[in-house]
Formats: sequence, structure tokens, C-alpha cells
Amino acid sequence: VIELDDIHLSLGQGAARVHILKGISLTISRGETIGLVGPSGSGKSTLLMAMAGLERPDSGRLLIDGQRLDGLDEDALARFRGARIGIVFQSFHLIPTMTALENVAIPLELAGQPDAFERAATELASVGLSHRHNHYPAQLSGGEQQRVALARALAPAPSILIADEPTGNLDGATGQDIIDLMFALRRDRGTTLVLVTHDLALAERCDRMIRLRSGEIETDAMRLRA
Ligand code: ATP
Ligand code: MG
Repeated sequence: VIELDDIHLSLGQGAARVHILKGISLTISRGETIGLVGPSGSGKSTLLMAMAGLERPDSGRLLIDGQRLDGLDEDALARFRGARIGIVFQSFHLIPTMTALENVAIPLELAGQPDAFERAATELASVGLSHRHNHYPAQLSGGEQQRVALARALAPAPSILIADEPTGNLDGATGQDIIDLMFALRRDRGTTLVLVTHDLALAERCDRMIRLRSGEIETDAMRLRA
């Protein structure tokens, strides 16, 4: 479902330009869960951005569901991302001026999805927030905000869910609840998961742990599927 072949990616301008990903090759199967670990600055977030089509590689091939992303223009890439890739960040990234329901529904509506609000309500129910439709992000706890973000990410029924330290801003128990919910929802739907975490125990829960170091894959452990 995701294929990376010798991906190189640099960010920044002029003297601040940094060669971050240095030849990443990787194939991720449909429905697989990947725990991506590695030291701070090793390129984990950058690799997620590349997979999500949010940063363009300098070179190499990137295919998602058989579609080469490098050939797409910005509009086509944005549409592809909206339909196929769900993203959850450490800092939630909800729109503060929209209610919980609107945060989930508006992206669906912009994508031309009919019944966007009904679908959003269903997603909020699946993350246990039916009673919080009309709350704004500032009126929600961190855990609730991340549930809204998870509902938003999963609402378009993406084939891939990408999560960058989704529990980094939550306390232990709340983070555990979010992780359990995320694994349960993705299992029910067969969604591929790529999860960046500093928590080795959490990475161990994935089918496969991949460790980055200095922009290269240090280890890639295929595990037995649970
Ligand atoms: P962390 O665990 O701290 O989140 P990470 O593995 O996610 O780290 P990245 O955010 O991918 O690391 O960053 C990798 C390297 O790229 C870092 O050295 C960082 O300073 C550099 N970098 C990231 N974004 C840019 C940018 N826009 N311009 C220049 N350098 C950047
Ligand atoms: Mg990071």
C-alpha cells in the first residue's frame, strides 16, 4: 500500500538546507501497523511528511495505493491526501473557531462528500464524543481534542493513518486510552497505521518496528502479525 524507493529529502533554504532523509526504501502492506522510532532529529516526522505528500522528496519513488505521488500537481496531491491519508499530530491541530462537529465535517464537505455532518456525527460517536458536538477545542480536554482529531483523520475512510507522537501532549492514562481507541478503530477498518513514538512498549505493539538514525533506516523488524 505504501512503497518508498530510495527517498532523499532536504528541507530549509540556502545555508540552512539540511539533507534529512538519506535513501529510505520501505514497503508497507495494507493493514500493517508500523512503530517508527529513533532519536530526536533522526527524521521521523520528516518521513511522515513525505509519506503524507506534505513534503516533496528531492529524489526517489513514492507510491501509495499504486499511485506515484511525485507526478501529481498540488491540487491533485491535496485531493489524494484528503481521500487516502489521515493524519494525527502531537498538538491536535484542530481549528479553534470551529466546533468539534465542524472540525470533522467541514473537511468532508470541502471534499464534496454528501452527508458530511451525518458522517461527522457518526465518527464523533465512534470516538465517544456524541455529547461534545458543539464544544469548541478550547472547551475540550486534551484527550477529547485528540479524539476529535482522530475522528477527523478517520472520517474520509483513509487507507493510511499517520500519527506523529499522538500522545506526546497527554498524560499517561489519557494517552493510553487514545492509543487503545486508535488501534481498535484501525483494526475494525483495516486501516494501515504508521505511528511515530518515543515509547518502545507502544512500538512493540505494532506489527513491525522501524528505527531511524540520521535519516537512514537502522533496523526494520518484521514481526508476526497479531
Ligand atoms: P523528534 O523526535 O524530535 O520529533 P524527528 O525524528 O521527528 O525528531 P525531524 O523533525 O524529522 O526529526 O527532523 C530531522 C532533522 O531535520 C532535524 O535535524 C531538524 O533540525 C531538521 N529539520 C526539520 N525541519 C527542517 C526545516 N524546515 N528546515 C531545515 N531543517 C529542518
Ligand atoms: Mg518529530
